[in-house]
Amino acid sequence: MPQFTDTSAPGTCIFCRLIAGEIPSAQVYEDAQTVAFMDIGQVTQGHVLVATRRHVPTLLDATPEEAAALMRTAQRVALAARAAFDPAGVMLLQANGAVAGQTVAHLHLHVVPRHAGDGIDFTWPRKNPPASVLEDTAAQLRAALAAR
Ligand code: AMP
Ligand code: ZN
Repeated sequence: MPQFTDTSAPGTCIFCRLIAGEIPSAQVYEDAQTVAFMDIGQVTQGHVLVATRRHVPTLLDATPEEAAALMRTAQRVALAARAAFDPAGVMLLQANGAVAGQTVAHLHLHVVPRHAGDGIDFTWPRKNPPASVLEDTAAQLRAALAAR
């Protein structure tokens, strides 16, 4: 699990490096202000992170436009998850600051499809599937996004 990254050093931020293509990720969606990609710790099938393109540590540091764009992208991804996986529901989760449980100091929203009986709680029994599983799941979401 990555450590809460020093916000004075955005060049070392894991999500900035991922958005820049320096480290691999299974991307789902991108637009001018946001990027959506698979969380490597899948708490349920289709668990996606929606991040701002710009390095801002928390929601409190974002512009109103970035905050709105984050939610808009989360809705797009949630609709794609519904089309792809037919979940029973979808959770949107977000933490601000290390004390609140944020581990990567780059603003992001978790989109977590909930399946009947998945039994997740805030201890989040993370699974770390192989990259091929993430890429297959991302492809399903991209197809569902494109179909809309
Ligand atoms: P939070 O604890 O809310 O800050 O969430 C950080 C999330 O980033 C966790 O769910 C991690 O599983 C996820 N994560 C960390 N590194 C990567 C990575 N390289 N690619 C995708 N997700 C990551
Ligand atoms: Zn960053």
